[in-house]
Amino acid sequence: MDFYGHVIDGEEVASLDGARFDTIDPFTRQPWALVALGGKGDVDRAVAAARSAFDEGPWPRMGFVERGRILHRLADLIEQHADELALADTRDMGKPIAQSKDNDVPRAARNFRFFADHARLSTGEVMPMDTGHHTYTRFEPAGVVAAIAPWNFPLMLESWKIAPALAWGNTVVLKPAEDTPVSATITARLALEAGMPPGVLNVVHGYGPRSAGQALTEHPDVDRITFTGESGTGRIIAAAASAHLVPVSLELGGKGANVIFADADLDNAVEWSIRAIFTNAGQVCLAGSRLYVQRAVYDDFLSRFVDAADAMVTGDPRDPHTQIGPLASEEHYRKVRGYVETIESEGGKLRTGGLGDGWLVRPTVITDMPSDARHCREEIFGPLAVITPFDTEGEAVALVNDSSYGLNAMLFTENLHRAHRVSAALKAGTVWVNCFFVRDLRAPFGGVGDSGIGREGGNFSREFFTEPKAVVMQITGEEE
Ligand code: NAD
Repeated sequence: MDFYGHVIDGEEVASLDGARFDTIDPFTRQPWALVALGGKGDVDRAVAAARSAFDEGPWPRMGFVERGRILHRLADLIEQHADELALADTRDMGKPIAQSKDNDVPRAARNFRFFADHARLSTGEVMPMDTGHHTYTRFEPAGVVAAIAPWNFPLMLESWKIAPALAWGNTVVLKPAEDTPVSATITARLALEAGMPPGVLNVVHGYGPRSAGQALTEHPDVDRITFTGESGTGRIIAAAASAHLVPVSLELGGKGANVIFADADLDNAVEWSIRAIFTNAGQVCLAGSRLYVQRAVYDDFLSRFVDAADAMVTGDPRDPHTQIGPLASEEHYRKVRGYVETIESEGGKLRTGGLGDGWLVRPTVITDMPSDARHCREEIFGPLAVITPFDTEGEAVALVNDSSYGLNAMLFTENLHRAHRVSAALKAGTVWVNCFFVRDLRAPFGGVGDSGIGREGGNFSREFFTEPKAVVMQITGEEE
């Protein structure tokens, strides 16, 4: 098996104590790669490298054009290594190869290009004052950024964090999820090949609690923590950040809701609703796991939705035709299986789907589930859709908003007034109307309630990854 090390100060290295772990392919359920298992000492080394690259190295002092050139070169290399990167994520977590290759890898490249250009083209503000002064703003890099990533979109979500951090002149220590370490090491190798100076992008592998993740978030020399993962972990990380008064961005779990009004284009609504819950086997923070359908079209929608779910191709994620692969790990499979096995005892009806071979869960459709059941309230992170009828717009809004999460919602209607009215009424960081997953990287991304704190994207990433400074200048001196 190939070995993937940490990348610290421009070198790919083993752990100080030599510890390693296997990463498991969830389809074969066999180890497929060996990875360095980091601990506190490895994190200390990586943070020290990032600190000195920030304090003494060229990266924060380079112009935006030169930094941007390196980030664009990295994007080119990511595209040139698309097969290797896509296969790494597919083998690490069972994501269908078509998705890794056609979605995640291009999105990662786009993140580097977008944030390189965004930083270069960004402008500050000048505020002329009527006191004979003016104030202007500067966006200065914050320092060492700790980035902690989940396993569901490894390469894509890691690039979403490190691209803006790097574009604004910070240095980074990335701790990828332990289930999906390989693509991060490959990316860090490519960053060096692109000309990124040593110590600018460091990767340390390891677990979360009492391991590399905890050591990184508790490290006193870190200036920003950007975290994506579960809401429970987010609370622990927020506490670690508050101990050092370090700004933290938390992109956490969700319980995406999807409202289909009777006047919707049903073909469009079915197509997007299927993608919203079954993409990546439902292992998506944005997954549209709660569907609310207006009663007049409920039966029609349900039968089309069940047919479309049944038509999905499940199986080997390395087969380009596969749409749903196995769940990412045995632990996660056991968790999702628990929800499948309790559908009826919680009061619901299984319309189609259920457990497949190995760690596969088939596209599963549930109806008649009481709104206070676990299936309607907890983030399952698997391919389980709960469909519930509603009568009035007000009832639909109340059902969507009756959640501790507030990451995203979708609505399908041909009525313009309703589209605006309901978008405003929903408790969510993002609302999609008649579509889903479409993203403008300038837009704020994040959630309310248990879905997180802060926003990233465009200027929102700039605010987070920089220290905005106000400079006040007197401009009316005496003539000399
Ligand atoms: P997780 O919280 O278990 O782990 C995420 C990362 O945090 C991993 O790298 C892990 O090692 C690390 N970690 C765990 N405990 C830690 C600790 N005490 N200190 C420091 N680091 C620690 O999440 P996961 O299971 O990998 O990912 C799935 C979750 O991520 C879901 O809840 C999903 O909704 C969420 N998610 C959110 C978004 C978003 O943008 N809002 C995007 C993708 C995934």
